[in-house]
Amino acid sequence: MKQLITVFLMAMVWTGTLAQPVEVGLYQEQLVRAAVVYCSSGHYQLLLDGEVVLRMENGDILYLTLEDELIKVLDAENDFGYAGHVELRSLSTESVFRLRPIQPELESRVYDDNLLVLPGDRYITLVNQVDLDKYLAGVVEAEAGPNAEKEFYKAQSVLCRTYALKQMERHINEGFSLCDGTHCQAYKGKSTGNPEILEAIVETSAMVVADYNFKLITAAYHSNSGGQTQRASDVWLSDENYLQSVVDPYSLHQPHAKWKDTISFKEWKAYLLKNGMKSVTRIPDEIIYVEQMRRKKYFILDSDSIRMTKIRADWGFKSSFFDMFPDGDSVLVWGKGYGHGLGMSQEGAMKMARDDFSYQDILQFYFHEIRLMDYRDLPHSSLPQSVLDL
Ligand SMILES: [Zn+2]
Repeated sequence: MKQLITVFLMAMVWTGTLAQPVEVGLYQEQLVRAAVVYCSSGHYQLLLDGEVVLRMENGDILYLTLEDELIKVLDAENDFGYAGHVELRSLSTESVFRLRPIQPELESRVYDDNLLVLPGDRYITLVNQVDLDKYLAGVVEAEAGPNAEKEFYKAQSVLCRTYALKQMERHINEGFSLCDGTHCQAYKGKSTGNPEILEAIVETSAMVVADYNFKLITAAYHSNSGGQTQRASDVWLSDENYLQSVVDPYSLHQPHAKWKDTISFKEWKAYLLKNGMKSVTRIPDEIIYVEQMRRKKYFILDSDSIRMTKIRADWGFKSSFFDMFPDGDSVLVWGKGYGHGLGMSQEGAMKMARDDFSYQDILQFYFHEIRLMDYRDLPHSSLPQSVLDL
């Protein structure tokens, strides 16, 4: 009975507008020209150019196709003609739709809340207007998988929220706030893999990481540090006080702690020569090696140098934390960690959570001199305007 009353009250207070909506551009890199939308649960209203034309419920299907810079809208029985603005507006907090691009054909994904569809000259812009917490649950699952501990999920939630709020105006000229690719943060729709993810979001509600000047940090994280994180200026041009290099024993012995590769010695020498290391033509092969007991910013030979991050990018290595030894015609590459190495190591943080550290301990370990606080307590000058409007 009590549950029924709660459901009834939720229905009463639901006004059709989301408490804290964010607008996420979907399938942005694939240039979608046609898609099918299925109403999976709850109820929706279909609005074409602002007018309600249909009420949709579980099982209803809609076909959307780009034609002459407008969207042609059909369902199983009706041809609704063309529209310049299509909206699927949720009529309850539990509404869920499935979206399947058919041109090009891509895997379908399930989303909470609303869908906006805007035509362009070459492709349609698909925007999921979704409650911030539900969006963050989807991001945490896409970025960290469904099989970790709650305290890890809390640490990851705080970082994903910080990142999202700081980047909220990144795609503002394209008609949405954030994209669903790694350019912003990966988002593959509704979190379904582990209920603890949404709990972690709710239990850290509104919490973000700020630096000592009350500014949102660049909430960097990566898969595995290899035993030592990177300092900001070793990857970027500028330094950030909160991103210092940390010796990280928790990342050792984790799935992505080590990697191996082999490259051709001839190609390696040609690469060094091309990048200004003229001495490779006269010094013995056996002293052309890279050794990093601790992370180094540069590979230095004679008086020439190349940034480790450049070598990583040019050769497609998993990290810039590696040793290289000549071995006949080849060079053996023994690497540590996976990713750029900045900020929180996800596998290290998972290990810390298994060792009973709290999410606050985890974040304080990977970031230097930070404040964990409610973003609404930050000075307005520290937040993008669209966050103040949430
Ligand atoms: Zn983006």
